Amino acid sequence: MSLLRPRDVIGHVHDITPEFLAARGLRGLLLDLDNTLIPYGSYEERADVMAWVAGLRRAGIRLYLLSNATGKRARFWLDKLGFEGVGMAGKPNPRAFRQALAQLGLPPQQVGMVGDQLFTDVLGGNLAGMHTILVHPLEGNALPHTRAARRLERAVLKRYGHDWRA
Ligand SMILES: [Mg+2]
Repeated sequence: MSLLRPRDVIGHVHDITPEFLAARGLRGLLLDLDNTLIPYGSYEERADVMAWVAGLRRAGIRLYLLSNATGKRARFWLDKLGFEGVGMAGKPNPRAFRQALAQLGLPPQQVGMVGDQLFTDVLGGNLAGMHTILVHPLEGNALPHTRAARRLERAVLKRYGHDWRA
């Protein structure tokens, strides 16, 4: 069960500041895309997210996108966001996390995995020995398997004393 437990639970990526990262000894982040940075399936640029990314990069934080979205969708967003990453990552498969950590050139203890799903982002990040940060999903989405996963996530989070994912 503890592999599903996030180290931090936050409302929005904006809660992750250079000070937040320094306090946790983190120098890089692996970032989920859908419902973490961008509403599920959206192609609309968000000025607030771009400003957040720019602020972290100015602070020297290394960023890498680790998304299960199609390669085409991931590429579209990588071009906009201006850092490296991959789509079709197959999270929580540990291989994707190992490859991403190698690209960042940082040990897992110095990297935060930021995502909105327990069974992909948090599980994979914990398996890789990373500091996992669960973010409230930007928007619900209609995929039946995701709705089923959300119900399970709520049950797990409640056990951990987090009741915000109503
Ligand atoms: Mg997501």
